[in-house]
Amino acid sequence: METENSTAAGRDFSERLLNWYDSKRRILPWREDPSPYHVWLSEIMLQQTRVETVISYYQRFLFVLPDLEHFAAAEEHVYMKLWEGLGYYSRIRNFHKAAVQVVEEYDGKVPSDPAVLKKLPGIGPYTAAAIASIAYGVRAVSVDGNLLRIFTRLTRCGGDIREKETRKAAEDYFLERMQERPGDFNQALMDIGAAICLPGKAADCSRCPLSVYCLAHEAGEETDYPAVFQKAARRVVPLTVLRIRIGEKLCLNRRPDQGLLAGLYELPNVEGNLTTEEVRAYLEHTGAAGLIEQIEPLPDGKHVFTHLEWHMKGYEIRLKDSPQTAAYAAASGWSVVDSEALRKDFSVPAAFSAFLALD
Ligand code: SF4
Repeated sequence: METENSTAAGRDFSERLLNWYDSKRRILPWREDPSPYHVWLSEIMLQQTRVETVISYYQRFLFVLPDLEHFAAAEEHVYMKLWEGLGYYSRIRNFHKAAVQVVEEYDGKVPSDPAVLKKLPGIGPYTAAAIASIAYGVRAVSVDGNLLRIFTRLTRCGGDIREKETRKAAEDYFLERMQERPGDFNQALMDIGAAICLPGKAADCSRCPLSVYCLAHEAGEETDYPAVFQKAARRVVPLTVLRIRIGEKLCLNRRPDQGLLAGLYELPNVEGNLTTEEVRAYLEHTGAAGLIEQIEPLPDGKHVFTHLEWHMKGYEIRLKDSPQTAAYAAASGWSVVDSEALRKDFSVPAAFSAFLALD
């Protein structure tokens, strides 16, 4: 229960934070006109991607798909192309599913209740709170890693920030202090987390509007928070990537509709790090006997996902340009594309860019 004192302390905290935000906030395109669609799009793009990268993607996306109705009605290749290079493609697929659902079930009006928003595909508690608070002024705290870092330092909380209890404590702490302008309150904390209360020794407390409340700063212990707990190691997956050429064209494989990088195009690949002879044997075994002109090793590549790493060996393979090869490619389920089609019509995830950029 709030006491008179805690309410007054909350008001002071809120005023200090919002005054700082009014003069020091980052100028970002989605803050110009924070409609629910704009906030939603920016928040989905910002999951796992840096602000500097997002800005041009955000502007281009809105240029082609200016509102929710256009986006919901768009064909897959249009919005996938606009997303190409941002990675984590399940974000855009879920965003589209959710947009269709909003048009069909909510008459095109994005819900304002975080509990309802959270039921839409791809919207977690953080994004739901961001949309509700920024677009509708609903009191809801967007809890992410940055906010948890600020919270543990302000309060000298030694809890594990991956635990539900710590997240709940952070949410309660800021909710009590969120007295007005919830959207700006959240965005102020986002800005502090992104530029001031940085991890490790990089915290710039002299610029922080919250330093007067910060127990870790008072104790000179900023670097002790958040407490570090051991992380599970990422799984390493060895892979062999085959850049298969037929004449000037390249073979692309479509990934399955479910799972990692679902539905995107990739260079054909095989699990394991194969030698040149093993690659030849693999291709012959799958029907390319008599079609291989050349196999050349390429520089190794590596791509890091959240929970796993691909350690890739690559090979450039030239196949004879013949009807038998066309039949082999078709039987393998590959699209054989020229460089213009590759650029315009096929979304290939960044994991393969090291092998595509070798021309
Ligand atoms: S005073 Fe320093 S440690 Fe505390 S919240 Fe601000 S930047 Fe973070």
